[in-house]
Amino acid sequence: MVWFRKPKYTILTPKKKDMPDGLWTKCESCGEIVYNKKLEENFRVCPECDYHFRMGAWERIRMLADDDNFVEYDRDIMPTDPLRFSDTKPYAERLAEAQKKTGLTEAVVTVEMQIEGMPVVVGALDFGFMGGSMASVVGEKICRAIEKAREKKLPFITICSSGGARMQEGILSLMQMPKTSAALGLFAEDGLPYIAVLTNPTTGGVSASFASLGDIIIAEPKALIGFAGPRVIKQTIQQELPPGFQTGEFLLEHGMLDMIVHRPELKSTLARLIRMLMNS
Ligand SMILES: [Zn+2]
Repeated sequence: MVWFRKPKYTILTPKKKDMPDGLWTKCESCGEIVYNKKLEENFRVCPECDYHFRMGAWERIRMLADDDNFVEYDRDIMPTDPLRFSDTKPYAERLAEAQKKTGLTEAVVTVEMQIEGMPVVVGALDFGFMGGSMASVVGEKICRAIEKAREKKLPFITICSSGGARMQEGILSLMQMPKTSAALGLFAEDGLPYIAVLTNPTTGGVSASFASLGDIIIAEPKALIGFAGPRVIKQTIQQELPPGFQTGEFLLEHGMLDMIVHRPELKSTLARLIRMLMNS
């Protein structure tokens, strides 16, 4: 039995000078160097291995919207530092850095837009903003977007990408779980559809609240979805975890998800579902 085989291919590492910034991206999964233009055309999905690259909130919105005619809600609600929290860095400083890096005011963008001619309200989380973490303003913006959708009788969609509740706002972040859940409860009473799209990763307080409450829950391929990390669970239950644990594929098999949709088909799938659910 041969334990190690020499690979039959040669790994080419492009020299720095051959790779001008912003022209090529190395796939995080297969290591293939992909031409950025090709990656954009392919909805930021690796053409070699189908790896779904992470996308920012606005990239998501632009990918799903018919055109640039969207109305952004509540951009002016700014986060504060209610606990005057500081770990290795003051929270206020982290917020300022995240705002500068992403150009966003908070980790969620809420808009009213159109998908195949149908108006919808969308809340997209941005992992680039402090790991897409849910804090007071994120919860508030989600709730306000739900209220708007309710008022206008529109479907509501979230694109989730989050590491969970933001610890820098402590209990105030955790309170956003029941708050968003209650808002969705009222939304459901009005018979309006809510679709949650879970992307890599959707974990912690977001997975334990609005991400899991969709009338239809969709995931992108190979997305990490769960509450606590696998290591914590393994230590707690003192058992080996099954293969594929906490992936969308595993959850689909166990009835926790409705479908896994490849990114290029996401828009048409959402449109089809909205048409069915809104009976239009
Ligand atoms: Zn790849």
